[in-house]
Amino acid sequence: MTYDYDMIAIGAGSGGLSAVEKAAELGKKTAVVEARHLGGTCVNAGCVPKKVMWFAANIATAIQDAPDFAFDVRLQGFDWATLVEKRQGYIKMINDWYAGHLQDLGVEVLKGWGRLVDEHTVEVDGQRYTAQTIVLSPGAEPIVPPIPGAELGITSDGFFALKQQPGKVAIIGAGYIGVELAGVFRALGTEVTLVDIAPEPVPAFDGMLKEQVKTNLEADGVVLKMPFRVTALEKAADNTLSVVGESETLSGFEQIIWAVGRRPLTAKLGLENVGIETERGYIPVDEWQHTGVGDIYAIGDAAVGFPQLTPVAIRAGRYLARRLYNGETKLKLDLTYVPTVVFAHPPLGTVGLTEEQARAQYGEAVKVYTSVFTPMRFAFTRHQPKTALKLVCVGETEKVVGIHLAGDAVDEMLQGFAVAVQMGATKADLDATIAIHPTSSEELVTMR
Ligand SMILES: Cc1cc2nc3c(=O)[nH]c(=O)nc-3n(C[C@H](O)[C@H](O)[C@H](O)COP(=O)(O)OP(=O)(O)OC[C@H]3O[C@@H](n4cnc5c(N)ncnc54)[C@H](O)[C@@H]3O)c2cc1C
Repeated sequence: MTYDYDMIAIGAGSGGLSAVEKAAELGKKTAVVEARHLGGTCVNAGCVPKKVMWFAANIATAIQDAPDFAFDVRLQGFDWATLVEKRQGYIKMINDWYAGHLQDLGVEVLKGWGRLVDEHTVEVDGQRYTAQTIVLSPGAEPIVPPIPGAELGITSDGFFALKQQPGKVAIIGAGYIGVELAGVFRALGTEVTLVDIAPEPVPAFDGMLKEQVKTNLEADGVVLKMPFRVTALEKAADNTLSVVGESETLSGFEQIIWAVGRRPLTAKLGLENVGIETERGYIPVDEWQHTGVGDIYAIGDAAVGFPQLTPVAIRAGRYLARRLYNGETKLKLDLTYVPTVVFAHPPLGTVGLTEEQARAQYGEAVKVYTSVFTPMRFAFTRHQPKTALKLVCVGETEKVVGIHLAGDAVDEMLQGFAVAVQMGATKADLDATIAIHPTSSEELVTMR
């Protein structure tokens, strides 16, 4: 049987692109189906535009702190529309770069919504294409819960589409996206109320980080309403919006942002045509990303059990192509230690087990080291967010199984320490490392 392509990926985000690019580098004929923009969520409505806004938020904070370093400056204004225009120009440049790169590699881009017809056929806008291998990489979309008035709110996609800075917003959902958007808005001068059904922000994180992020949000003036069950959204005669709860209504918002999670974009993928049954919309896969059907694989945010992060999707795509086309049949994704950062204000960083998870797993064998301090960056500013660091160690050797960080610059601090954790570092290995002084990182190699 001959096919039009060796591999087709449905979805040109972090996962799909990495699979077809690697396959093409290995000499295979590939295509990628994309209905919207090359680069997927990360480039167009996720990591990249989010980080641009986060940099702007940091600059706003630096200007506010500048007089404490004897500068005669004052934050006199901020032009949201201009920043958004520049940000979108940057994203367009990345989209164009991808188009050129794919062309250079010989990867064909099939524009439109793709759907499986059978195990080797994909239909895009009525046109059919066949491939030996099909990679499902459709990603996910923000959830808007079915409550009265829900459509009055926007999502993270709507946040990135805002052309004007709202004066007062409510963000519903204090997971990592909600916390990041709250930090950006607040630092840039918007009044923010952060609402969640859970009692604390970022519930999946280590207790120390939850506490620290709560302290930082409140110190910055974010109003926390949690636990708070939202029952409806309403619009008043003056066009302001309200968040209705069971016993309280929060009013006067210009925008309400849903940040209550994401759901996989699998409903229209034609999975029923090949007999793939989803789990709450997610595509089940084995440890090789195989769906159990023909030569169909699934990677990225839409696959069951994947941490929804760009580097995880990229790694899965590249490994898949190397396994299939480079003879590296044992190359398997190891998700034991996935480092991740929440670009809060200041950021959080985490890798491995939380203290709570480690104690549940290892009981008395757990030893925890913590350090909480005001970093030198804020030693004499009026605004003094603390840095909080934690090492979670296990057993006689004190193997480091978790690192949890909150504070200025921890986003850049974590990657190197994640290498050490991945390599099986012990507390003694950290102690044996000469500190870099004066930094906040040095605390991690001098903890007692
Ligand atoms: C606000 C926000 C901030 C984030 N920040 C970070 C961060 O800082 N760091 C990080 O690591 N991750 C971050 N993420 C997560 C990251 O963006 C995702 O984990 C990553 O993009 C997943 O890659 P993917 O390939 O699975 O899907 P996506 O990147 O979502 O790509 C899927 C693509 O498939 C297309 N598509 C879907 N169905 C079809 C179809 N049937 N036919 C044709 N095309 C289709 C979509 O249009 C999309 O372009 C963030 C996400 C959001 C929403």
